[in-house]
Amino acid sequence: MEKVYMARDLMDAYFVHNIIENQGIKAEVIGDNLLSARGELPFSEAYPTVWVSEVDRNKALEIVEHFESRKTNDENTIEDDQPNWQCPACENSIESQFTACWNCQTQKPT
Ligand SMILES: [Zn+2]
Repeated sequence: MEKVYMARDLMDAYFVHNIIENQGIKAEVIGDNLLSARGELPFSEAYPTVWVSEVDRNKALEIVEHFESRKTNDENTIEDDQPNWQCPACENSIESQFTACWNCQTQKPT
């Protein structure tokens, strides 16, 4: 078995796991059982990881790389078009260039 991905959390791990399995590669998430021990272990030991068999390693790494670059692109896109934000106090939708609610002057949450 070869480790191909270290996830932030279990959801992230299973997301990548599913992407890899959708390509016909058998993958496994390891680390569920370590989550309860989080805090007592070094961080790198407590994060769930995704593993595949050695023969599938290169293909799985390509899939992970593709997934990660897409994820980065998505984050950039969000930064670029700056969606409206919702006032936490009165729930009005505020355009991104305003830093306070036009209705109740509540500051934009950071
Ligand atoms: Zn408001």
